Amino acid sequence: MIQIDHVSKSFDQRTGGNFMALDDVSLNIKEGEFVSLLGPSGCGKSTILNLVAGLEPYAQGSIKVNGKSITAPGPDRVVVFQEHALFPWLTVLENVAFGLKQKGIGKKERIEMAMEQMKLVHLSKFADRYPHELSGGMKQRAAIARALAMDPQILLMDEPFAALDEQTRLILHKELEEIWMRTRKTILFITHNIREAVILSDRVLVMSTRPGKIKKEFTVQAARPRDSADTLLHHVEHAI
Ligand code: ATP
Ligand code: MG
Repeated sequence: MIQIDHVSKSFDQRTGGNFMALDDVSLNIKEGEFVSLLGPSGCGKSTILNLVAGLEPYAQGSIKVNGKSITAPGPDRVVVFQEHALFPWLTVLENVAFGLKQKGIGKKERIEMAMEQMKLVHLSKFADRYPHELSGGMKQRAAIARALAMDPQILLMDEPFAALDEQTRLILHKELEEIWMRTRKTILFITHNIREAVILSDRVLVMSTRPGKIKKEFTVQAARPRDSADTLLHHVEHAI
């Protein structure tokens, strides 16, 4: 589904010269697979995600989704960022329905579809609230509902739970797991939390820095739902 072949990415540095953020990265993600990227700050995790999202150009290598080269963002790939990025002037329901308007879906149907997604993330009661009236966890749920409303094939999640307290994070793990089991979306998930990566994913990729490369890969075999995977956790910890 996502095919990354020999991709390198350099950024122009204002100080002059090029900075190589990714060096010859290759990665295949199958349809319905949940893959996590771990690694030290600056190793290129967000760069990979942004390239797949079509938010950044790349000069070397190739990135394909369903066999088609990525050149721009598309409705088949939706990003959920750490900062929920909800529109503060719209209610939660309007936020979730927003992308559907862009898709040309009529108002009544938009609201029905948005309510359906709100149910999935347990936000139905908060439909008419504004983002500043929600807790951090609720805002992140709304961001997930908004992404799901677009019905993308691929969810790209860049540290979506990093700003949350531990308890809320655990609740959202369960919810994301339920959503994944129900929809079987292909998910690329970035985190600094090793346990989160091991508990949620089918495969955990560990990156190294300077220049960014994928240095290790772990396949998670325990059945879902998965509450702990301590042995694997230990191995991944050692790889970082
Ligand atoms: P973190 O865990 O801190 O989010 P990351 O693994 O997501 O880190 P990236 O954001 O992908 O790291 O950045 C990889 C490298 O590329 C870093 O050294 C960063 O400074 C550099 N970089 C990223 N975006 C740009 C940009 N737009 N312009 C210049 N350099 C950039
Ligand atoms: Mg990042």
